[in-house]
Amino acid sequence: MQFIETRGNDTLKPASVPFSKAILSPSASFGGLYVPESLPKLDDTFLLDHIDSSYRDLAFDFLKLCDIDIPDDIISEALKRYERFDDSKNPVPMHKIEDDCYVSELYHGPTRAFKDMALQPFGYILSYLAKKHDQKYLIMAATSGDTGPATLETFKDATNITVGCLYPDGGTSDVQRLQMVTENAKNLHVFGVQGDFDDTQNALKALLASDEFNEAIATKDIKLSAANSVNFGRIIFQIIYHIYSYIKLLKNKEIKLGEKIYLVVPSGNFGNALGAYYAKKMGVYIEKILIASNQNNILTDWINKGEYDLTSRDLVQTISPAMDILKSSNVERILYDKFGSLRTKELMDDLAQKGGYALTNDELATLREDFDASYSTDEECIAVMAKYAKKGYIMDPHTATCVKSYEALKDEKAFAVIYSTAEWTKFSPVVAQALGKKFKKDLEAIDFIKEKTGLIPNETINSLFNKQIIHNKIIQKENIKKEMLSIL
Ligand SMILES: *Cc1c(COP(=O)(O)O)cnc(C)c1O
Repeated sequence: MQFIETRGNDTLKPASVPFSKAILSPSASFGGLYVPESLPKLDDTFLLDHIDSSYRDLAFDFLKLCDIDIPDDIISEALKRYERFDDSKNPVPMHKIEDDCYVSELYHGPTRAFKDMALQPFGYILSYLAKKHDQKYLIMAATSGDTGPATLETFKDATNITVGCLYPDGGTSDVQRLQMVTENAKNLHVFGVQGDFDDTQNALKALLASDEFNEAIATKDIKLSAANSVNFGRIIFQIIYHIYSYIKLLKNKEIKLGEKIYLVVPSGNFGNALGAYYAKKMGVYIEKILIASNQNNILTDWINKGEYDLTSRDLVQTISPAMDILKSSNVERILYDKFGSLRTKELMDDLAQKGGYALTNDELATLREDFDASYSTDEECIAVMAKYAKKGYIMDPHTATCVKSYEALKDEKAFAVIYSTAEWTKFSPVVAQALGKKFKKDLEAIDFIKEKTGLIPNETINSLFNKQIIHNKIIQKENIKKEMLSIL
């Protein structure tokens, strides 16, 4: 698999790069992203041959088909990271919640949110490459809550890798903050920033663009990489569980081979949905990918009307903060795949300069061949969570945004798979509210939910509240550069 660039090539960068290059330096010409030049085909034999495979065997065979420049033994070791999940043989349990609907639970990893699905094996591969090239890398992350813990966890003690992680002080849940500030390893640096997530992210962008910072890392012979979903090293692992969903429904005799299913994806940066799109392109029988959003419903307008308009909106804080995003990075990879690099560059330039763009009617029709979209308000999500709690299934607020799309399918005779992206323990005050009582503190909410439902939080969550705080610096955004220079 070779990788090419979404906005075309500037003749300074190579015209195509192998997987290892695309993940070590993920920024492409003209501010674009790397995408696979071609995708392998998953035929019926591939699907049938894996009916009884473990998740890891399926993943290994899939990655072999992708023909990436990573040795087999390293791929195997990377996939062993799924042993850190609750059930090492089956890291992605699927739970039937309706006659024609399963929930695929992507949150059974070490930090209890779906970011582990990709960041765990990706972290292993990036660390391997850094060691092999004897090159030091700095990974900077600004997080609204889930990427930070998952990035720290995967790179803990990795040779040649330093992580600088910034979170908005007061802008994450207690559990998310504790997961970051109690991570104890020499190569991990965590800072709370006074301000909200936007302030934090903008301060990081300014830092990455600053000459002083780039000179400092160059003199120290350090390179920058990224662990967010602009990195294809994350996307590749997010294709696999969509293939697994189909195979699992086949195995459970819910569908026949060739029968099409719907996938419902709670979306922010569109990495999860992009993985579903690639799975569909490769041959998995998917009727449509349904994009679920919260009140920051820019993706709903993009898919239903062809409009991507930042000028008419401000970011709203919702109960599903991991989806509080307006500039959704992986949309660009869809634009490229559908309309080519010239048009992608044009649209992305319009987004940067004019704050938006509109697709033509033909383009919109092409987009809607694969996607449909809806959004839910916070009140609707709480009602959904309460409804399913009564039926004995507890879901987090991100997962709850998916149910409306599923319900709109009532007249279709097709199966749906909803992706659950976080465990209830990560957003316990909202879950408790859906169960009838409001709390400010996670610990109190967790106790209430335990009592009410009999659910027991994983030990990694329980132990957080007694762990020693390692990173206790709260900094002003003006001081980010100084602090980051001091960790190098
Ligand atoms: C990151 C995240 C999402 C959004 O996923 P994208 O791939 O960015 O669209 C949804 N839910 C949770 C809990 C997340 O952490």
